[in-house]
Amino acid sequence: MSAQIIDGKAIAAGVRSAVAHDVEGFAEQFGERPGLATILVGDDPGSAVYVAGKQKASAEVGMEPSNYPLPADTSREDLVALIERLNDDSLVDGILLQLPLPGHLDGVELTGLIDADKDVDGLTPVSAGRLTLGIDGLRPCTPQGVMALLESAGAQLEGAEVVVIGRSNLFGKPMAQLLLEANATVTTCHSRTTDLPAVCRRADVLIAAVGRARMVKADWVKPGAIVVDVGMNRTHDGLAGDVDFDAVNEVASAITPVPGGVGPMTIAFLLRNTLQAARMARAKGASI
Ligand code: NAP
Repeated sequence: MSAQIIDGKAIAAGVRSAVAHDVEGFAEQFGERPGLATILVGDDPGSAVYVAGKQKASAEVGMEPSNYPLPADTSREDLVALIERLNDDSLVDGILLQLPLPGHLDGVELTGLIDADKDVDGLTPVSAGRLTLGIDGLRPCTPQGVMALLESAGAQLEGAEVVVIGRSNLFGKPMAQLLLEANATVTTCHSRTTDLPAVCRRADVLIAAVGRARMVKADWVKPGAIVVDVGMNRTHDGLAGDVDFDAVNEVASAITPVPGGVGPMTIAFLLRNTLQAARMARAKGASI
């Protein structure tokens, strides 16, 4: 029997419309709208498309987007000055530095300069520390999106065996932290994991974030498991996930498609984080 298809597009649309509703309430209460600033350095066409998509999505939910395009040869000093200016700008609630940066700029170092209370990507060391310690803060968008997909699929995470393939700072590590917070038993796999298929077969929930098209095969999946495919791989026959969808679909109880699964959730949670940042800023302002 085929698995339930987890419709990320529809679930993301629900998150976005809830954010839009809450933004109107926010605007009524405070007389201003949450502001999302994006910084795009250089002219990489892929990054430009991503930034334009984030700008458009934030405008659609009633936020105030602003974009700071900088030439590819921007100096570190100029970029630092811009980040510091945006950190101090009370009309800017969220700051997003689009990665990757040109080679002479250190993306990790510069992302780390963003005020953690405006870090809507949830990628600064302070945000990562807050997540690890269970302190309130802004969480990375894609892992939050996966949690929402699992909830909508009815996954019982408490006590469940969850296997995450991938240990990146962007996805795998924060994903494992959120799952631990939900009381799952989490195993994180990577390129040195011994007998990856056997580890995956233990999973009640299997999450793949590797970047290798259709790597996860049907015989890696426990019958009835929920499978979430984070991978986005460009192949000669279009976009493919990390999971061999057609075969795994016959074994899993629920599965995310690519495209239309995890992808749409990332922007939806960027918007939610921006609203959360705006609320945190007003709450902080009120208590000063
Ligand atoms: P990444 O930084 O390249 O990390 C890939 C991870 O996979 C690493 O931990 C690596 O292990 C592991 N890995 C590589 N080959 C492996 C193998 N043969 N067996 C087991 N593990 C292996 O990638 P990422 O940023 O986490 O992204 C992963 C995928 O998710 C990509 O396709 C990316 O496009 C996609 N993604 C999608 C979204 C979205 O919005 N939908 C967001 C984020 C990422 P080592 O650590 O040992 O090298």
